[in-house]
Amino acid sequence: MGARVGARSGRGRGRRGGDDGGGGVGAGGISTERARHVPERRCLGCGARHPKPALARLVAAPGDGTHRLVRDDRSRLGGRGLYVCRRVECFERAVARRAFHRGARVSGELVIDPELGADVGGEGQWGT
Ligand SMILES: [Zn+2]
Repeated sequence: MGARVGARSGRGRGRRGGDDGGGGVGAGGISTERARHVPERRCLGCGARHPKPALARLVAAPGDGTHRLVRDDRSRLGGRGLYVCRRVECFERAVARRAFHRGARVSGELVIDPELGADVGGEGQWGT
């Protein structure tokens, strides 16, 4: 009879082990934040790298024997993206260096609308 009492007390102690079951939760929270990766692009004006959503995207759209530089923040037109900071200075610098011509790899004329610079530097009417 005395032996049965000893066996019962042993089972009671074993339940305390359940406390460390949730040990992995804290580590998981850190890894989700590191997994978020923002692609970067280089500004053709100042050469600085910025997260892609912070830059204005331009493409050379083919037209009547020439190409025309147009804004395409949402990548609707496809083609080679050309990125600049949303600042008139960077846009004009890129124009002066013919960075758009070289970046777009167009043969011949690339028409750049003078108003495009103000558009790029303007307060994000295109949103993100
Ligand atoms: Zn820039």
